[in-house]
Amino acid sequence: MKKKTFRFSSSAVDIYLGASLSKLGTIVDKKKTILVTDENIFKAHKPKFRNWNVITLKPGEEYKIQPTADAIIEQLIAMEADRQSILVGIGGGVITDITGYVASIFMRGIAFGFVPTSLLAMVDASIGGKNGIDVGEYKNMVGVIRQPSFLFYDYSLLKTLPQKEWSNGFAEIIKHACILDRSLFTLLEAQDLGKVIKNKKLLSTIIERNLQIKSGVVKKDEFEKGDRKLLNFGHTLGHALETQYELTHGQAVSLGMVFASWLSAQLNGFKDAARVEEVLANYGLPTRADFDVDKVFKILKMDKKRVSKTMNYVLLEKLGKGKIQSLPVEEIPTYLQRYLSFINPKK
Ligand code: ADP
Ligand code: ZN
Repeated sequence: MKKKTFRFSSSAVDIYLGASLSKLGTIVDKKKTILVTDENIFKAHKPKFRNWNVITLKPGEEYKIQPTADAIIEQLIAMEADRQSILVGIGGGVITDITGYVASIFMRGIAFGFVPTSLLAMVDASIGGKNGIDVGEYKNMVGVIRQPSFLFYDYSLLKTLPQKEWSNGFAEIIKHACILDRSLFTLLEAQDLGKVIKNKKLLSTIIERNLQIKSGVVKKDEFEKGDRKLLNFGHTLGHALETQYELTHGQAVSLGMVFASWLSAQLNGFKDAARVEEVLANYGLPTRADFDVDKVFKILKMDKKRVSKTMNYVLLEKLGKGKIQSLPVEEIPTYLQRYLSFINPKK
């Protein structure tokens, strides 16, 4: 187990790489710790939860809501948790988001740490200190920015990750490559989903590189004033699609990145839109889908990145170099319509 420390403006996060969940007791006191996980992870790794205090939630984004947070808080009170208690979220992005949120509000804030168990949580969701819940159709509408005390990486937990969850993680990995790391992009281009899943060494290299990219961005811009906005590549349209259609986060973001690449070609002469599309497809992600522009725009214009009449849209200058461009909100439906006729000329 390797230990690294990332310093953010307000706090330091200890990062344990190549760790094993069975050793969690060496970094936190069992008596003070309450683990928060979901039923799938609990069932898949039951022996590792023995002799710990555990709160088990129903799996899925639909439970990342205030009533679940209230239920956790009630259980914490029943367990007689106090200001010295530590919450440890063991799970995917849903679990890390809600655990960090509850820990930030319970008794005005207690310590927390994460053991990410999905690829998405390992490369993205658990890093950066954004914790929150969804409100109705609006994702992450309520929450706080607060760093965990530690991140604990046990790659062997990925053995039980369902097949369809892998692509979700790769959507964010490809995003990082597109906006910030051209050589990661070419590395991914030379591989595909099946090959990377089988290659443990390569997988841990990719995870650690993405951890580095994401923490680097967050460290420079913890409170999202500049660079951190780049991480929204594919997410403006992605979030809107995700709430309106039956899509996973990764699938929705993949479609969003393809649109943003097309728009980058239109507005900035970006030349590699086809390569972005091909890499996404090689990691099991959808690249083209029809959608209802009015329905999607209604959600899209509520995006937190909107500044009155303009919206900060993340586009690509070239592979590995994203840029934030201010677009008039009212022009977006026209671009979406033109894009749809581009991918489906018959309509
Ligand atoms: P995210 O995609 O943001 O990580 P979730 O927290 O909803 O979102 O995790 C995705 C799904 O994968 C959930 O159903 C969760 O229970 C399941 N899951 C996450 N990690 C593992 C794992 N290591 N083994 C088995 N199932 C897992
Ligand atoms: Zn995302």
